[in-house]
Amino acid sequence: MDGSGKGNLDQVKHVLLVLSGKGGVGKSTITTELALAFRHAGKKVGILDVDLCGPSIPRMLSVGKPEVHQCDSGWVPVYADPQQQQLALMSIAFLLEDSDEAVIWRGPKKTALIGQFVSDVAWGELDILLVDTPPGTSDEHLAVLENLRKHRVDGAVLVTTPQAVSTGDVRREITFCKKTNLKILGIVENMSGFVCPHCSECSNIFSKGGGEELAKLTGSAFLGSVPLDPLLTESLEEGRDFLQAFPESSTFTAISHIANTLLDSLNA
Ligand code: ADP
Repeated sequence: MDGSGKGNLDQVKHVLLVLSGKGGVGKSTITTELALAFRHAGKKVGILDVDLCGPSIPRMLSVGKPEVHQCDSGWVPVYADPQQQQLALMSIAFLLEDSDEAVIWRGPKKTALIGQFVSDVAWGELDILLVDTPPGTSDEHLAVLENLRKHRVDGAVLVTTPQAVSTGDVRREITFCKKTNLKILGIVENMSGFVCPHCSECSNIFSKGGGEELAKLTGSAFLGSVPLDPLLTESLEEGRDFLQAFPESSTFTAISHIANTLLDSLNA
């Protein structure tokens, strides 16, 4: 790739970054579920998985380890739904398959390569592109942001858990957004309460409401809470579409609400 795919984002209407202060809070989960929810709403969606620390989206969408092809303008994304072609994915994991490639990606040129990767995917027409970034506020974020900015970024969705809110990781994330003039579209509190697999009742095993409080404190929008739901974990492990499998669940309602709020705020 020579980074010549400058126009690759020209037909992408909206670009959203999904950020979290640290790993394991459900950033990839929320990215995946939002993408599925947008697709259910009739949108053509793309996911760019640049989470070098744990590129898990291919597994969550059950696309396996496909061979990625190149065309004149860059990498050709893989479709999670090859028939409909409404959900496109490009993951750094696809390129890490080759061991030589892995060395390069981990080497000193990593940041520049990540930045380049962002503009080297031939997306074609998309309503929304979700970018799953590595946790934290590293140089890689800046590289991703700089390269996406050449096009346009609508803003960021911040994912936190009730506990993470108290550690201040997400506050650093908010400061990062403010410093880099990245609009915060809102905060999602994930793993907020636990849905019992037997009676479907949701109980608060950790504190609740921290995300909402933080949103108020920082003047950001609170998009909603997603409970810790064993059925969601299972769906992600098996690469199944949770929203299609459990439309009656309270977790479905929570995710749909967040997705609809975002679509409204984007006018998408
Ligand atoms: P991150 O991207 O922030 O590192 P992940 O999205 O990979 O985190 O989530 C970590 C683990 O937690 C995954 O195994 C995922 O299946 C699980 N998980 C995340 N959110 C939920 C949830 N709301 N309900 C059930 N399991 C969840």
